[in-house]
Amino acid sequence: MAKKKAIIAGAGLSGLTLGTALAQREWDVQILERSSELREIGAGLYLWENGLKVLESIDVFDEACKDVEFINSLDMIDEKREMVHSTKFTAENRFCVIPRKDIHSALARAAEEAGARIETNIRAVSADSSGTITIDNGKTFKADLIVGADGIYSKIRDSLNIKSTIEKVNNGALRALIPRIDADEVGIAMEYWSGYRRIGIAPSTDQFRYIYLTTRSEDKEGLSDPINKEAWLSSFPHLESVIKRINFSRADQHFHYIYLKSWSAGRTALIGDAAHGMEPNLGQGAGVSISSALELANQLSNFDIDTALQNWEAIMRPVAEKTQIWSRIYGASASNWPKELYNIRSEVIKKAIESENIEYMMSIAARHVAGSNEVPVGTS
Ligand SMILES: Cc1cc2nc3c(=O)[nH]c(=O)nc-3n(C[C@H](O)[C@H](O)[C@H](O)COP(=O)(O)OP(=O)(O)OC[C@H]3O[C@@H](n4cnc5c(N)ncnc54)[C@H](O)[C@@H]3O)c2cc1C
Repeated sequence: MAKKKAIIAGAGLSGLTLGTALAQREWDVQILERSSELREIGAGLYLWENGLKVLESIDVFDEACKDVEFINSLDMIDEKREMVHSTKFTAENRFCVIPRKDIHSALARAAEEAGARIETNIRAVSADSSGTITIDNGKTFKADLIVGADGIYSKIRDSLNIKSTIEKVNNGALRALIPRIDADEVGIAMEYWSGYRRIGIAPSTDQFRYIYLTTRSEDKEGLSDPINKEAWLSSFPHLESVIKRINFSRADQHFHYIYLKSWSAGRTALIGDAAHGMEPNLGQGAGVSISSALELANQLSNFDIDTALQNWEAIMRPVAEKTQIWSRIYGASASNWPKELYNIRSEVIKKAIESENIEYMMSIAARHVAGSNEVPVGTS
């Protein structure tokens, strides 16, 4: 029997994961990438149990995580330098920070090894529900399934007649990998809060720590590119040793939320940020995206395409939407908290986490196992 064919627009983490998983399931896969080379930025990527299980399932874990240090606790620390909350990790509930370049290159290697063809310098401009994709020189290609994995500003999404909301949020971030020194903590990630600014610092490999600095988009000093170290030192004087080590950072002036009425139209589907972009407050945008990619591949290998698309969206949409909601709540607690109430913020957050089982709700994505065919508990 002839192989089914998928054309995926976008060789980011979602497109490469889907391409690998489909090629491993005997699909003929072509991945079209607009950049001239395959690349990721020089930052770290939080990955939780859900994302790590995906990497294991498609045989990428060993390569992507070869240098990674697993983290025992993620501590939230307030402006008085007091602990607000500490999330603990175990061998069954893992958490680490992978250099983005490492996970991206491991995925690209796995996709090609499984037989997927990755073509660079090709910009997709549109697709339709019949399974036809058009690229920038006007040529069209047909496949059993077209997938838009082309990120927040997805051209594939914009060309489909799907009702969508693209929300630009008043928060942004700087991110960098910094060299590690002997005095750095081992096995502990920290997020420090000060007003509406936050700094996260986590071990990544024995060479690097990952640092992100997040604040309101209107905080021009905070988001200036290159980084204004004095501005950040004024909020976090005790973090001088890490702030001083930032040599180069990537700046995102705004985050986005993407909401779609449907994740597919006929024979064209959307995955990853193109379908459910979110603020990175829970560090789950990529985790949910690669889980969704694996879920889609599993469904497509077990069912006809229409049924597979329906099942996939029924399973993954609640995970993505709940994660978006909790990411928004987390972000708002940091950036929209009224200034005159900063003095009670830590107590309110502590109480909320104790009384409402909020940590459980915030970790819906981390607890979801792609491929289990189950809508996780807590998403209804
Ligand atoms: C500041 C920040 C920190 C984050 N931290 C984390 C974290 O710690 N953990 C986590 O899980 N998530 C995190 N995220 C979210 C995560 O980065 C995204 O969810 C993830 O990268 C989405 O992957 P993607 O493949 O869907 O999209 P993208 O990474 O955007 O990839 C899209 C790909 O498609 C290509 N492309 C675009 N348009 C076209 C076109 N027309 N034709 C062909 N190719 C095209 C692009 O060049 C790119 O290669 C963070 C996001 C931000 C902004």
